[in-house]
Amino acid sequence: MAKIIKEGGRLVVPDNPTIPFITGDGVGAEITPVCRETVDCAVDKAYGGERKIGWMELDAGEASVKKNGTPLPDSTLEAFREYLVGIKGPLMTPVGKGIRSLNVTLRQTLDLYVCQRPVRYFDGVKSPVKHPERVDMCVFRENTEDIYAGIEWAAGTPEAEKFGAFLREGMGVKKVRFPQTSAYGVKPVSREGSERLVRSAIEYAISTGRKTVTLVHKGNIMKFTEGGFRDWGYALARNEYGKYLDEGKLEVNDCICDAFLQNALLHPERYSVIATLNLNGDYVSDMLAAQVGGIGISPGANINYDSGHAIFEATHGVAPDIAGKNLANPCSLILSAVMMLEYLGWKEAAGLITSALERAFREGRTTPDLSGAGKGVGTREFGEILKGFIAG
Ligand code: NAD
Repeated sequence: MAKIIKEGGRLVVPDNPTIPFITGDGVGAEITPVCRETVDCAVDKAYGGERKIGWMELDAGEASVKKNGTPLPDSTLEAFREYLVGIKGPLMTPVGKGIRSLNVTLRQTLDLYVCQRPVRYFDGVKSPVKHPERVDMCVFRENTEDIYAGIEWAAGTPEAEKFGAFLREGMGVKKVRFPQTSAYGVKPVSREGSERLVRSAIEYAISTGRKTVTLVHKGNIMKFTEGGFRDWGYALARNEYGKYLDEGKLEVNDCICDAFLQNALLHPERYSVIATLNLNGDYVSDMLAAQVGGIGISPGANINYDSGHAIFEATHGVAPDIAGKNLANPCSLILSAVMMLEYLGWKEAAGLITSALERAFREGRTTPDLSGAGKGVGTREFGEILKGFIAG
């Protein structure tokens, strides 16, 4: 097995790359094996044995607490760092103060600044809207800044009091309505952070033949943070992609987030690639996923396009209510694996899995969450159906 490396600005992928993976807690034990088998089947079919993934399991989550006394050992972080590209099932967020979400730790440690969420409709999936097929977008959500940076102080603490006093006395701020009982949060948004996110979105648009990139922000209210994101985004597009803009190959526009949420519901066909800040991106990607009926099957990736580090992941949680019952839908993880194969440049294998999923949805051969309680096929049986379609 060999390592994927980043060389000369490009990802160099051997025919037998080592891919680290985390099985995950709860339903992770059911969906991860199905996902790996589906990927192996597609890679084998697409490349006739000339390419093969060497899966390397990493410790994390509840099993790791039992084995190592910690849910996220350093060796796991190091393996993701060393092998560049990995995939993970859902992890239980440890309960208790002072313990960060494992997902947030992974994103921050590897500086995975893009949260990429493609949203498309699969024929046959139930949707709450009339024309879900009009939704075909890819959301680029900034993953390291904004109010999610975790800089906040609870009301009534000495820190909140100190910060309030600094605002009043140091900055002359008189606008805090109830200073005695206020909690505070800080929203850092930088030029570098905005530029690298918007650059990734534009590169994606160009490389996939999509023409429009929309900067979604709330700059009418938060003029320097969200407004800064918009202005830095436009400036970057002009400075680095002026040729594409002038030749009409790229269009960059912007939309205020509340208007975007309305427009994306009424006229989704107007949007293609979305570049947005952390909090907006959280809301926007879940709303769009719901529009295509895919909240439980939407894939995601956390990527640093400069270093090449990427972790692909199921976007749902550990689903404790159905864990161990062969009821879990493995599609979110499988579609994340499709994104991973595309990221590696293994488009043929990705295409085989996508076609198999399309056929399964069209024929109504899905897990109970999509078919209805008491109907549908089990997790393992769904995996067998996919492999049958791919191999056939
Ligand atoms: P959840 O996604 O686990 O469950 C919400 C609902 O969706 C449940 O009814 C569940 O049965 C259903 N569901 C989820 N995944 C499904 C699947 N693959 N197939 C069929 N149905 C599915 O969300 P929650 O209950 O809020 O969170 C439970 C735990 O998971 C928490 O500890 C939370 O922190 C963690 N979590 C982890 C991640 C992650 O690792 N990326 C994401 C979200 C939540």
